[in-house]
Amino acid sequence: MDTETDLRRHDLLIDGKRLPPGTGEYSTNINPATEEPIALVAQGSAQDVDTAVKAARAALKVWNGMRAAERGRILMRFSELLREHQDELVALESLDAGKPLAAVKRQDVPAAIDTLAYYAGWCDKINGQVVPVRPDALTYTVREPVGVVGAIVPWNFPLMIGMWKIAPALACGCTMIVKPAEITPLSALRVGELALEAGVPPGVLNIVTGKGRVVGDAIVAHPGIDKVTFTGSPSVGRGILQGAAGNFKRVTLELGGKSANVIFADANIDNAVRAAASGIFFNTGQVCSAGSRILAHRDIYDDVVERLTARAKAIKVGDPAARETTMGPLVSAAQLKTVLDYVDIGRNEGASIVTGGARIGQKGFFVEPTVFANVEHEMRISQEEIFGPVASVVPFDDEEDAVRIANGTAYSLAAGVWSADIGRVHRVAHALKAGTVWINTYGYTDVRLPWGGAGDSGFGREHGDVAIENFTEPKAIWLAIEH
Ligand code: NAD
Repeated sequence: MDTETDLRRHDLLIDGKRLPPGTGEYSTNINPATEEPIALVAQGSAQDVDTAVKAARAALKVWNGMRAAERGRILMRFSELLREHQDELVALESLDAGKPLAAVKRQDVPAAIDTLAYYAGWCDKINGQVVPVRPDALTYTVREPVGVVGAIVPWNFPLMIGMWKIAPALACGCTMIVKPAEITPLSALRVGELALEAGVPPGVLNIVTGKGRVVGDAIVAHPGIDKVTFTGSPSVGRGILQGAAGNFKRVTLELGGKSANVIFADANIDNAVRAAASGIFFNTGQVCSAGSRILAHRDIYDDVVERLTARAKAIKVGDPAARETTMGPLVSAAQLKTVLDYVDIGRNEGASIVTGGARIGQKGFFVEPTVFANVEHEMRISQEEIFGPVASVVPFDDEEDAVRIANGTAYSLAAGVWSADIGRVHRVAHALKAGTVWINTYGYTDVRLPWGGAGDSGFGREHGDVAIENFTEPKAIWLAIEH
């Protein structure tokens, strides 16, 4: 991409048009690998959100008034357009978020396309029921779109997580205001353009870029928005829940995690450690379901630490565009600071750094893959989400101890269990507090399976038929039959 194109101004996308922000302000978007500017991005305001909400409310009639099969055809065309533009989307996402090109090509973009195609197929299958109540009435239910949806998206998987929200909402006949994270807005803007090209009517999918405290707050407060779907940090999630009370918006919160990957002594240690390493180092550890706590039985503890350390050292950290790179930079200077602060916290708490722990170079937000051993369950590095490539390896004595430690944080998003004992893996899978449990594997997600957590990990689920329920309201209808 040449610098001139990249430094063009990226305007808001409202009612099918690229509009400059009301304030006239743009922020400079930075490549996390080089710290070079890559684009100027519109700083939306509350006024811009209001304009977008008006467009989305007007578009509800058009979008929801369409035959369901027609809506499905448009969304399928939209997914085909994403496929046709996948190289461009891969490049954009990699540049904006610092993700290795190969990983975005393998995971983020195909997952976004798959999600859209999956929900395109749902459009004409959102059924009500006939519920026989009494002989003098026909009683049935229909599912109606909740209305205008505000989607607030994080920076770790901007395209994929954005599509987890856009695809089911549009399939249900809702219209939307999408606010990408301020530091990774480029793929969402491009996706909005492709939606229009596919035939999604103007006003159905509006993209308003800008700050969380401005655009995000305005979405949460706006009385013309019926539901907010949010993925991000617990602290922002809490504010959203409170702010949404004004007009009783429906809210879905996908927040953080401190997921435990529990390795028993009878597990295939090689497989377990390979998956545990990718469970914490994939996407530079910026994954809500990162297996950031590796719980290893005392008998194999040293072996696990040693193998994990070898894997951490073998990771090729560097230029996201380089073929050999397996780990890119962190997304921002702020995230780099957070991660390095946690390294200090762990050190001061008495845990030992076996490998890593330092920034790499002075340009770009690169950090070494880090392994902490001798971590005690109560330490902050074992309780708090770091959102970086920092593994805490915690020992346990037996099954009961493992479950106690695994369940001993405020989060409950995901967990892994490794053992050859089929009874044990099921017992532990049932005992773990988590929305997803992986047995003898780690990290997979699929749009067909529910995704989300409880406690500080939020509530509600994305994906599958649950998302269809999230974006629709059931209505009961009575028709009197005269006898
Ligand atoms: P964040 O909460 O800071 O930001 C997320 C989004 O919220 C961004 O678009 C941001 O602009 C917006 N926002 C910020 N302040 C806001 C406000 N006051 N009102 C409304 N919106 C506001 O989180 P982040 O740093 O972008 O992402 C990292 C966090 O997201 C981590 O805690 C991670 O665990 C979590 N996460 C969870 C999942 C999941 O599925 N559970 C997935 C990805 C990330």
